[in-house]
Amino acid sequence: HLPLTGKTALVTGGSRSMGAAIAKRLAAEGASVAFTYAGSRAQAEETARAIEAAGGRALAIQADAGDPDAVRAAIARTVEAFGGLDILVNNAGIALGGPIDQITFEDYQRMIAVNVTGVFVATQEAVRHMPAGGRVIHIGSSMTRYASFPGASLYTLTKGAVTGFNRSLVRDLGPRGITVNTVHPGPTDTDMNPAEGDLAKLLIPNMAVGRYGQASEIADVVAYLASPGAAFVTGADIVVDGGFTA
Ligand code: NDP
Repeated sequence: HLPLTGKTALVTGGSRSMGAAIAKRLAAEGASVAFTYAGSRAQAEETARAIEAAGGRALAIQADAGDPDAVRAAIARTVEAFGGLDILVNNAGIALGGPIDQITFEDYQRMIAVNVTGVFVATQEAVRHMPAGGRVIHIGSSMTRYASFPGASLYTLTKGAVTGFNRSLVRDLGPRGITVNTVHPGPTDTDMNPAEGDLAKLLIPNMAVGRYGQASEIADVVAYLASPGAAFVTGADIVVDGGFTA
């Protein structure tokens, strides 16, 4: 008997990188896992195949997190396919920006649409279906604690919004037996932030463990928060950053 047997999950942005690692991990724990993606169809199909090859149940859904109707439809499809929704992981996120005087208003609006509105709409719609024991897990960022380099003010604005949303949401959902937590990854080796990139050269000297995180190390913490044993953990900001912000 696996910890998440009989549970259903939706991971936003699960085609590749951290979201794919989270989707695979939740499936390995026994959950039926739907995940959304925006553009990477081939990688989404590959992730779904990998989950199924390991004996899990997967559903890949094309749904831009910045399109509220698409997000609502993705949740409806998940509920229809799996008969419910117990776990929502708000992982989809983008990192547009630059120095404050160079950020375009179009980039600002896109960042708000994907990183903030996407999280709000997915959460609102998901909890309409969520029974007691439900789990909402946001992926924030260690940037909300420690912003060590310039050009990320817009990104940090969106992650700060999610952090505030999380804090107050626990009061709405606690009485229903649903927990809400934010995992704040530090620099993690993904397509967005490769461990071999220029940013990594700047950041690794400030990481206590002297290396980037792996997507699977973030997925480990998400799996814990999703598990029945985490029922008393709610409203938490869990920094998973190799000591980057310590
Ligand atoms: P990647 O850019 O490597 O992967 C992003 C994933 O999200 C892809 O599967 C992508 O799918 C999907 N996605 C992107 N935009 C959308 C959208 N509009 N709608 C639906 N899906 C979308 O990012 P990471 O894996 O690095 O980041 C995952 C989360 O972790 C993000 O919220 C990020 O901000 C956060 N984070 C990352 C850190 C890092 O160092 N990597 C550190 C702290 C936080 P597709 O290709 O199909 O668009």
